Amino acid sequence: AAAAAASLDLDGNPIAPLTICMIGAGGFIGSHLCEKLMAETNHVVFAVDVYSDKIRHLVDPAPPHLVGRISFHRLNIKNDSRLEGLIKMADLTINLAAICTPADYNTRPLDTIYSNFIDALPVVKYCSENNKRLIHFSTCEVYGKTIGSFLPSDHPLRKEPEFYVLKEDESPCIFGPIVKQRWSYACAKQLIERLIFAEGAENGLEFTIVRPFNWIGPRMDFIPGVDGPSEGVPRVLACFSNNLLRREPLQLVDGGQSQRTFVYIKDAIEAVLLMIENPARANGQIFNVGNPNNEVTVRELAEMMTEVYANVSGEIPLDEPMIDVSSKQFYGEGYDDSDKRIPDMTIINKQLGWNPKTPLRDFLETTLTYQHKTYKEAIKRQMSQVSAS
Ligand code: NAD
Ligand code: UDP
Repeated sequence: AAAAAASLDLDGNPIAPLTICMIGAGGFIGSHLCEKLMAETNHVVFAVDVYSDKIRHLVDPAPPHLVGRISFHRLNIKNDSRLEGLIKMADLTINLAAICTPADYNTRPLDTIYSNFIDALPVVKYCSENNKRLIHFSTCEVYGKTIGSFLPSDHPLRKEPEFYVLKEDESPCIFGPIVKQRWSYACAKQLIERLIFAEGAENGLEFTIVRPFNWIGPRMDFIPGVDGPSEGVPRVLACFSNNLLRREPLQLVDGGQSQRTFVYIKDAIEAVLLMIENPARANGQIFNVGNPNNEVTVRELAEMMTEVYANVSGEIPLDEPMIDVSSKQFYGEGYDDSDKRIPDMTIINKQLGWNPKTPLRDFLETTLTYQHKTYKEAIKRQMSQVSAS
């Protein structure tokens, strides 16, 4: 703690301890951010969420050395008057709360829109009215599809970066038609970004908007039937982990041709800490946070995860490790997809000097080791019960 107290920001000024109201602190990103803040800083965290399982080790109860540093506040921000008080008591609010699993966007579009837009409104309002700084989590999905995706598949311009690299202050937001309800999430996130930006422009709100590009690692989402609903569909890392743990083929939606860039959660959290501790450099900014060097198609991701999991578990892969499935079968009516997501890193590099470090294969190894250790026994037990009955 003594070392943390002496730490300096990027301009050489000492960092004063902050009180942070973190909404959605019990989720995947929140749990890693809480751990980082507890381990490496002196900041105090009010952890707000409806769930606490992923931060149980920090709050239930707080270990002796963290007493007074972190407190858990179980509340639903949709309807709890305690929220305003917590924001008023904090220096900074970080809003992570959202429905953010694609399987929900076309099947629960109302919940998705309410969660990502309506429920975030009071948070923005309380920050603006009380002159409190806000770091709001948006998504890379606000870019939607690339310009190049509208060209014929063999068109040479598709290879030109101007046709696919996603820039915070230049790229348009390109969504599909309303019947493709997949875009309900992206559209709600876009509108809350515009509202926050306008609060900054008209009322002087000090804000930072984060656009995560597929952050992955331990504790992401849930394994269906173990720590989440058996019929639930999490994001791709957990879907593929679940298939590997159960020795089922990985399901490639519409051929697995979509491209993604994955970044290790621990690299990404470094970027968030820089934003927290360098307000002068982060306020008024929208930041892409991703790793442009880790691009794969979903099919390549499946191949890599199959190979890495075989090493980690010592199990020989299935003869047919993957199967194709249509998006209609997998997600239902109204699904659509982003074709390609390469973040431009110029702004975050210039403002915060941040660069991602970890190659995809390395953090797949770390993450699949965690998945195997955490879930394999539970899944074995569950599968033997099913086959016995
Ligand atoms: P997550 O689902 O693990 O975490 C969200 C947390 O918010 C959950 O713990 C949930 O219980 C909580 N929450 C939701 N509604 C709430 C409410 N009404 N009241 C209180 N708590 C509520 O998701 P995550 O991956 O940690 O994502 C956090 C944020 O980052 C989200 O806004 C998401 O849209 C954004 N994001 C993440 C990624 C990524 O790569 N992980 C990519 C794009 C955007
Ligand atoms: N996907 C897949 N099989 C699965 C789960 C997801 O092929 O079991 C695909 C999905 O269609 C998308 C990509 O993987 O093209 C990433 O999906 P994810 O849910 O992680 O979120 P997104 O990056 O689309 O926000």
